[in-house]
Amino acid sequence: MTATVPFIADCFRRFNERYFESSLPEIPIRLSNAKGFLGKLTYTRRRSFWRTENYENFVLRINTRIDLSQAELEDTIIHEMIHYYIAYHRLSDTSTHGTRFRAMITAINRRDGRHITVTHRLTDEQQQQAAGRQRGRMVAVVEFTDGRIGVKVVPHRVSYMQAFQSGCRRHFSVASLRWYFSHDLFFARFPSSGALRVYLIDTPDDRSALSQALSQAREITLA
Ligand SMILES: [Zn+2]
Repeated sequence: MTATVPFIADCFRRFNERYFESSLPEIPIRLSNAKGFLGKLTYTRRRSFWRTENYENFVLRINTRIDLSQAELEDTIIHEMIHYYIAYHRLSDTSTHGTRFRAMITAINRRDGRHITVTHRLTDEQQQQAAGRQRGRMVAVVEFTDGRIGVKVVPHRVSYMQAFQSGCRRHFSVASLRWYFSHDLFFARFPSSGALRVYLIDTPDDRSALSQALSQAREITLA
């Protein structure tokens, strides 16, 4: 699902009550299309005259570039709310994701069977998605004479396609080789290169994901 401000605001209210004793003041919510993070809490630190540090201008940013499930989105929001809780209440911690932060994650995960993670790191697929939602890929679907099926993503250029196709026919027992141009994220997991490698699609799940992806793809004839 794609995050919206009302959805995030509603999550914020619910989680504030459930996990943070309703102690967190409402916070401006911004949707972000940036690469590289799922969520982010930003604020400014200002040293006052009495040399105490003030934290101000808290903003909660949630990424909309990456398609997350509702549970992942909620986990992301809670992760940022823990940062907010620690900063707002001036609690000490050993580092940004220190002992206190981790203890809070563990407690919430246990309590509600959540999967909040410590880092903001994106999965490979999410990074691919962040890099270009609309990116199309040139995909060879190879059926071998023994019935196995494999795929290979090659750079979108005729010279790569020709080299891969002839190499494949020379080195493997190929029953058929078809080219598809696809935007489906199923293919994001395969490296794009001219290397003579074919990735076997051997689990039932992957096979059905592949046929699903191909039903939306454009078949390309290599003359
Ligand atoms: Zn964090």
